[in-house]
Amino acid sequence: MASSVVRVDLDGKPINPLTICMIGAGGFIGSHLCEKILNETQHKILALDVYNDKIKHLLEPDSLPWAGRIQFHRINIKHDSRLEGLIKMSDLTINLAAICTPADYNTRPLDTIYSNFIDALPVVKYCSENGKRLIHFSTCEVYGKTIGSFLPKDSPLRQDPAYYVLKEDASPCIFGSIEKQRWSYACAKQLIERLVYAEGAENGLEFTIVRPFNWIGPRMDFIPGVDGPSEGVPRVLACFSNALLRREPLKLVDGGESQRTFVYIKDAIEAVLLMIENPSRANGHIFNVGNPNNEVTVRQLAEMMTAVYANVSGEPALEEPTVDVSSKEFYGEGYDDSDKRIPDMTIINRQLGIAFFLGCIFNFRQLYFLMFNVILTFVWWTPGWNPKTSLWDLLDSTLTYQHKTYAEAIKKVMSQPTTS
Ligand code: NAD
Ligand code: UDP
Repeated sequence: MASSVVRVDLDGKPINPLTICMIGAGGFIGSHLCEKILNETQHKILALDVYNDKIKHLLEPDSLPWAGRIQFHRINIKHDSRLEGLIKMSDLTINLAAICTPADYNTRPLDTIYSNFIDALPVVKYCSENGKRLIHFSTCEVYGKTIGSFLPKDSPLRQDPAYYVLKEDASPCIFGSIEKQRWSYACAKQLIERLVYAEGAENGLEFTIVRPFNWIGPRMDFIPGVDGPSEGVPRVLACFSNALLRREPLKLVDGGESQRTFVYIKDAIEAVLLMIENPSRANGHIFNVGNPNNEVTVRQLAEMMTAVYANVSGEPALEEPTVDVSSKEFYGEGYDDSDKRIPDMTIINRQLGIAFFLGCIFNFRQLYFLMFNVILTFVWWTPGWNPKTSLWDLLDSTLTYQHKTYAEAIKKVMSQPTTS
């Protein structure tokens, strides 16, 4: 429940209630962000999306404690004249709307580019023209591949963080060739980032760009054949959950050698709330938001999810829990992959951290009979945001949710005769 105690920002100043226009509020991240804002703050949300299934529990019934602080608008931002009015009514716009499932990048590159670049243009324009603050969701995929991935396999430099840690203000964006259409998403996101940045530089747009590094948790994507199309391919968490629920082997694309860092959605949302409520620290910045301590290969993720799911469901794991598939077979022509994604945390720790000053005064007067004082001040930063949840723990709570939500539905679907 939102408390009546006045909330203060990282600098101890009171936070005034905001009206937030959240585009894509009905998605995975949006649903968790709405929940957090309604539970812990007094801010109002204008929630825009084509769907609202994932936030239904926040909209109904009318007797909910936050009723009146969230309003759902079923809007497709591609073509809806109400968009500018809603942005004008708000203090802050958060744009989450996107096509962001890798299976679409090489098979529907036009939709991907339109969704991530063209459809986001009016949002940036309306914010800039009306002097409204914008938090735009980009992706860690704008980094593409690491510099280290181009070194020989046995090069000792591959172990050097300078060749793989991804820094907002220093790392290059390295994508594959144009026929590798996987990079259509990353390119579109990169160009919209550049546009937002340029609006800031030339027209004074107050902006923050968020680069999520594999946020995962309940309500992510869909389970094919239950709450999404049978032939649909969601992101890895839902793909592996689907296989576990159906007692089928988990498919490892190209050997499952790619590495990812996973962060629990509830940890990541804390960072977004800090950005919302600390504009003077967040404006003009691009933030990596991830958990560098939760790195695994996709194969290790599959093994861990198999072990966690056996605990959660009480069913023994399959004897052969994984199977190898080629990326061409799984995603089709034009797929390519990011090899490794470790976020550098310096900027988020500095901007959303709390500074401590330690002053030391050395007084040498008595020793040397001189008027000689030396004052030293040390400053260090304590992160105001730090992801806390280990990979095992976040998989445990997420797979508990998946099992509760889908196990019965999957049994039903699997017991139905298949049409040939
Ligand atoms: P999601 O697909 O669950 O949510 C996106 C929401 O946007 C959906 O509810 C969708 O209906 C809505 N939407 C799309 N096009 C729209 C349109 N034209 N009009 C209105 N609504 C529209 O995805 P998510 O995981 O919540 O991601 C949110 C944002 O974060 C995206 O921009 C994505 O690129 C970025 N991101 C997420 C992750 C992650 O780890 N989840 C990683 C990198 C980037
Ligand atoms: N992947 C896999 N099996 C699956 C789904 C995904 O091996 O069933 C791999 C995919 O090739 C990628 C990683 O898992 O290397 C993460 O995929 P995800 O869809 O989550 O998106 P990404 O992190 O690439 O944006």
